[in-house]
Amino acid sequence: MLDFQKLKNILTGNNSFLLTTHVNPDADAIGSEIALYEILKSLGKNEVYIVNTSSTPYNLLFLDKEKVIEQYDVSKHSVLTKSVDVLIGLDFNRSDRLVSMREDFLSSGKLKIIIDHHQDTEDFVNHNFVDTEYCATGHIIYDFIKKTSIVDLTYQVAYPLYAAIMTDTGSFRFERTTPEVHFIAADLISRGVNPTEVYDKIYDRSKFGKIKLLGKALETLKLYGKENQIGYMVITRADFKSADAYENDTDTFVNFTLSIEGVKAGILFIELQEGFKVSLRSKGNFPVNKLAAEFGGGGHTNASGIRIRNGKMGDYISKILNKAEEYSERN
Ligand code: 5GP
Ligand code: MN
Repeated sequence: MLDFQKLKNILTGNNSFLLTTHVNPDADAIGSEIALYEILKSLGKNEVYIVNTSSTPYNLLFLDKEKVIEQYDVSKHSVLTKSVDVLIGLDFNRSDRLVSMREDFLSSGKLKIIIDHHQDTEDFVNHNFVDTEYCATGHIIYDFIKKTSIVDLTYQVAYPLYAAIMTDTGSFRFERTTPEVHFIAADLISRGVNPTEVYDKIYDRSKFGKIKLLGKALETLKLYGKENQIGYMVITRADFKSADAYENDTDTFVNFTLSIEGVKAGILFIELQEGFKVSLRSKGNFPVNKLAAEFGGGGHTNASGIRIRNGKMGDYISKILNKAEEYSERN
């Protein structure tokens, strides 16, 4: 059980807050930040900042209606991380997920807390409100509001929370889509959230280049290992260039590998401007988080990632595939 009373005391007992989230934020990350921002504003807190290491992906900008999210800039935000009363990290629990903002976050002597639902929490803040039973960080915030009645669950809060929960449950189909999650969705919808609108804004307004990039990724699709249990795709810088697409456009591509009969683990290799990243997804008890951890990454049992900044993607592909095969034999 999370100590929501303690969290409530921290929010009510302080005046200035800086909220942040992980690199390449998703809708749970941005939605949780906006919901918590609204909560703090309702509590009368005037000094609330949201500062992220990455810019907000274009399909999530609609969640930030008041344009309050700032992108981290060392010359601008260094002082802020040392002057606000509380630093709140949302939807991550490992400091390396802050990338360029990590140093400022760690060196601040102010109160630091994490609100998150990932496994393998690193000990780098004063209080962790982390519980992996929750389907989304937005789910934790919903539960916090319900259990403490800290504020009314207004449309302004319900809207980003719905986006957070809808996306982190894979639109209500992943394992942690419990009856409770559907009751929560019903509650949020009853507060005026339009599920068709939220889904459409996040998933059905892709740029042309994104779908072209998907085509390029699908062309590389291969099966690997015994019984072809591993599906993988590779996206290079040249693909981004010729499709005229963005790094964030790859968000949901990895799921196509898992939609093939017999595939238990899907891997997407993405070459970035700096190094590369790997998205891993699995079905059942194939622990992609353990596979990711072998290469310095992490995440959940069925959804994990690896980010390598100073390494060539080509040097890692077969290493990661071989490790994946070892895991598929164990499961
Ligand atoms: P995605 O494939 O969507 O980028 O990431 C899926 C999940 O893997 C994320 O929700 C996060 O939990 C985890 N993840 C992704 N990249 C990293 C990483 O570089 N380090 C760690 N520890 N976890 C990651
Ligand atoms: Mn999440």
